Amino acid sequence: MSEIDQLALTSCEGELRGQRHRTQVLIVGGGPVGLALSIELGWRGIHSILVDRRDGLIPLPKMNGVSARTMEFCRRWGISDAVRDAGWPQDYPVRMVYATSVRGHEFFRYDRGTATNRQQSNNTPEHFQRCPQTWFDPLLREHSKRMSTNTLRYHTKLERFKDLGAQVEGEVIDLLSGTYQTIEADFMVACDGGKSGVRSQLGIATDGNALLSREVNVYFECSDVYAGCEERRAVMTWLVGRSGVWGAVSSIDGRALWRLWLTNMPEDFDAEDFDARRAVRDALGADVEFKVTGVLAWDRQQLVARKFSKGRVFLCGDAVHSLTPTGGFGMNTGIQDAVDLGWKLAASLNGWGGAYLLESYEQERRPVAVRNVDEATHTFSLISSLPAFECLSDEDQQGLDARRKMGEILRNEQFKREFQNEGIVLGYRYDPSPICIPESSVPAPDFVMSYHQTARPGSRAPHAWLSEGRSIIDLFGRGFVLLDFAQSKTTVDALVSAAKTRKVPLEVVHIGPSHQDLYETRLVLVRPDGHVAWRGESLPGDAMKLIDQVRGAIDQQIAISVPEVYNAPPLKVSIR
Ligand SMILES: Cc1cc2nc3c(=O)[nH]c(=O)nc-3n(C[C@H](O)[C@H](O)[C@H](O)COP(=O)(O)OP(=O)(O)OC[C@H]3O[C@@H](n4cnc5c(N)ncnc54)[C@H](O)[C@@H]3O)c2cc1C
Repeated sequence: MSEIDQLALTSCEGELRGQRHRTQVLIVGGGPVGLALSIELGWRGIHSILVDRRDGLIPLPKMNGVSARTMEFCRRWGISDAVRDAGWPQDYPVRMVYATSVRGHEFFRYDRGTATNRQQSNNTPEHFQRCPQTWFDPLLREHSKRMSTNTLRYHTKLERFKDLGAQVEGEVIDLLSGTYQTIEADFMVACDGGKSGVRSQLGIATDGNALLSREVNVYFECSDVYAGCEERRAVMTWLVGRSGVWGAVSSIDGRALWRLWLTNMPEDFDAEDFDARRAVRDALGADVEFKVTGVLAWDRQQLVARKFSKGRVFLCGDAVHSLTPTGGFGMNTGIQDAVDLGWKLAASLNGWGGAYLLESYEQERRPVAVRNVDEATHTFSLISSLPAFECLSDEDQQGLDARRKMGEILRNEQFKREFQNEGIVLGYRYDPSPICIPESSVPAPDFVMSYHQTARPGSRAPHAWLSEGRSIIDLFGRGFVLLDFAQSKTTVDALVSAAKTRKVPLEVVHIGPSHQDLYETRLVLVRPDGHVAWRGESLPGDAMKLIDQVRGAIDQQIAISVPEVYNAPPLKVSIR
């Protein structure tokens, strides 16, 4: 019987046993998303208990790319330098290579410099950072642990829970001692991964495709991958054979740890029986010393949950969206969930969040999840659509011609969207949203590869440098911020007084006209998560109504149309 079935079976009514603990938020799952939520809540002074059934170690890392937006959150939490300095070599070439094997025939490469000399985007004070989960998760964990509001409990599994209306009760078992405890919380947030037992127990279905293809990761140690061919060194080498794409080799730590990913494994694939050494040798295309350290089979999926919450229970991360890793959006999308939900939970617990504020979590985040999940599949489909040339590895003229042709195909700009996707990373917006005041202006197109900063309500408030090392986005986070570009020419007293009446934290920053062209209006109200709630030349007549809407106290009943998750057919990628 699967673990999910067991959880569902024990979810029947019954007295919860053992010692009782009380907290504001019970977080289930200590992957990167659960840890990020514990930090976001702790940063806002909210107490949480996080439980994870495992020991917190990451033997086989999946994620290795931290997006610029996640880095902006890390900057807010005070750990972006630590992520940057975690160990990725600053001089490692940010290069993608397409070849028959790591040392085989190469037909195309993208060079993007190194971490130190790459072109810096003007749209963010941060940038994409390679930082494998083996470094990133422990960094989050240590930071979370240091917060006096946070308790992290490993080897502790949520067995069952009850939503009692006024609070949630979770029964957890300490897997080392076998003892049960009950945790009472105002809210519970499940960050329990793609096979979410909580989602299952809540009866929330998913849309999309649960099996695009079967995949396997082989982890190996090797110091000589590029011995004698240093010019081939890459962060990732896509492997293309006579039947098309069959996998990729990526550097995990920029040194001796590697991951070989193989796609489209057969239905009866058995990790125990699999000749991992042979696969690595084929992928390297050379007889060098290496040691296989692990094999991880996983399913490529394209799923979004129909609901992101039920009652006092919320879901974040892979628990509500499972996507293909192409583009590196999985964890990063989950951390955005945690940030969107974090300030709303804090506002509700601190008494100033309105009755409809928490509903806006799903209304804002589900459309973004569908967008990112679909883009991830699209990118993978693109790379999978590379044609098959029988003679691709041949040494004769035909082979040469086939490789030249492959290079020409890969020159198409669209293939860059896997790693040039600032539009996806920074351009996600909550539009429409019941807690943002809509505008009649025409929204900028939602592009994948490029991003145009805008302060249109629902968008991430734009970045500009205020002084050396200080971005305008460093002003945002704790409460609402009213940017006043006109400086004292406009009176904002009515809004300050409305916020005070409703106990909404609001700071007015008289910023002067220097960045008004970027924000376009004289007044801009920015939410605690750094998204624009409202903007205008002057305050609306009813400032109290504005405050009530942005704190979710008005039932907006707006229709949010979420596109159907694209139900892609299983990808037809053939193996060698
Ligand atoms: C090959 C690969 C490469 C990837 N690369 C990237 C990348 O570069 N960038 C990116 O953003 N994403 C990437 N991803 C996706 C990323 O790994 C996931 O999106 C991310 O790990 C999800 O985090 P999570 O915290 O939601 O879930 P998980 O990491 O799955 O964590 C869930 C946690 O919940 C715990 N748990 C489950 N049930 C219970 C229970 N009942 N009680 C207590 N604890 C429980 C589990 O032990 C686990 O620790 C990649 C994925 C793959 C497969």
